[in-house]
Formats: sequence, structure tokens, C-alpha cells
Amino acid sequence: LETRLRQADKMQALGTMAGGVAHDFNNLLTAILGSLHLAGKRVGDEPGLRRLMHNATLAAERGSALTRRLLSFSRQNELAPRRVSVNRLILGMGDLLARTLGTPPGGALELRRDLAADPGAVRVDPDQFELALINLCINARDAMPEGGTITLATADAPIGPDEIPELPAGAYVRVSVADTGTGMPPEVLTRVLEPFFTTKEVGKGTGLGLPMVYGLVRQSGGGLAIDSVPGKGTRVSLYLPAAAAGDEESVPPGDGTARACA
Ligand code: ADP
Repeated sequence: LETRLRQADKMQALGTMAGGVAHDFNNLLTAILGSLHLAGKRVGDEPGLRRLMHNATLAAERGSALTRRLLSFSRQNELAPRRVSVNRLILGMGDLLARTLGTPPGGALELRRDLAADPGAVRVDPDQFELALINLCINARDAMPEGGTITLATADAPIGPDEIPELPAGAYVRVSVADTGTGMPPEVLTRVLEPFFTTKEVGKGTGLGLPMVYGLVRQSGGGLAIDSVPGKGTRVSLYLPAAAAGDEESVPPGDGTARACA
């Protein structure tokens, strides 16, 4: 049963991740197709150029069809976004978290919370978001075999234009998990979002934790940032768009399909 559970977890992580990647990819293809369309109006009748652009359009359309297949695969475990108070969610997961994390072999683990007075609400699938935070805390624990401190923090985090390349400017809520562990050298840090990249022993790591977290935040309209200093520790910050007051009834955020069709 345990193996089956682990496999189910893996498939779920893959699905969530595929959704996030497909979402990003779709936006790129939409931009490519749009540019080709506009350029097509200007090239006039030069046959060689027309053929090249036609080929490029066909390739981008094939990519778009593939992405849709990836999205429908990821929808097998469709997200159910709801209005969620991040503080309440974090306060609610205390016992579960402590039990899941256990005690590291060489020391004690301190779990701290540093919650902003009113970071506001976000729209996210609460179960998946909790799973994402647990994943981050497990990574934090694994980076502190001698023990240390894990700090779960929330903050109001407005983002300005072009501050984080993939995120439009606006009001965001930041939820971060920080540890006082080993940190990551640059060659690890640049690869951690790659599916199946792990530095853990076989059987201990799948390399799907961070890609799953990334997929979830992307599908929820947010992004993530990782700060890591070797020998000092790591902080993973998740940015989710702040939910407007009283938008309980609003349509869930797009999953990329709608945008691709626009
Ligand atoms: P897994 O935990 O299964 O290896 P992840 O995608 O969650 O998969 O993480 C990938 C790799 O990133 C880890 O194997 C580890 O090398 C590195 N990593 C992730 N989180 C941390 C952290 N908090 N501190 C140090 N290294 C980390």
C-alpha cells in the first residue's frame, strides 16, 4: 500500500507540475503565434518568406496541441481553488506538520511562525497548498540533519512592474519557508525546478517536490523565489495574487486553456 500511495503521490505531483509548465508554455506559444500573424501581414508576397512563416506557424500550432494534451493530463487531478486565509491555513497545520517532520537524527527541530497581522486571502486549492508547504518543510528538515529552525512566514507583498519577470505587477501575498540548513551551491540552485532533479539518496528523494510546488503556484497565478546561502540556509517564497475583498463567488483563475484560445 505504501508503494501505491507513493506512486499516487508521484502521479499527482507530475500532474500538477505538467499543468504549471503547460501553462507557461502556452503563454509563450500564444505570443509566438500572435507575432507570426502580425508579421504575416507585412511580408507581402515574397514566397520564400511566406513559406518559412507558414512552417513556423504550423510548428507552433503543433506545440499548442501538445500543450493542450499535457493540460488535460494534469486536469485528471483538477485543482479546486477557493478563497483561503494563509494565516489560518498555516495555524491549522501545526500538529500534522510536527508529526510529519519528526525529529532529525542529530538535533532538535524548532518550528516557528512569523505571521503578518493581515496578509489577506488568496485563491488556491487549500489541500494542494498545504501539501506544497509540507513539501517545503520536509526539504528544510532534510537540509538540517543536525537540527535547526524552520520559519513559516506570511507577508503582504506588493510586486512592482518587472520586479519578478513572470509576474504582473499587483498585490500579492508571500508565504515563505526558511531553514537554517546547508543551503545550496549555485549549480544545485539553478536546477532545483527541473523535474526529477534530486541530490538525495535513491528512495529518499523523487526530485518532484519543488516542481510540484512551482506548478501549483503558476496555476494559481503566482510564482516563487528561492534564496539560498551555502552554510547558512534557504528560503523559498511563494507569491500568490491577493484575492480581492469579497470575491468568493468569482470564477477560479484561468488554467491557461482560456488564454490559449483568446
Ligand atoms: P527532492 O526533495 O525529492 O530531492 P525537490 O524537487 O523538492 O526534490 O528538491 C530538489 C533538490 O533541491 C533537493 O534534492 C535538494 O538538493 C535541493 N533542495 C530543496 N530544498 C532545499 C533546502 N531547503 N535546502 C537545501 N537544499 C534544498
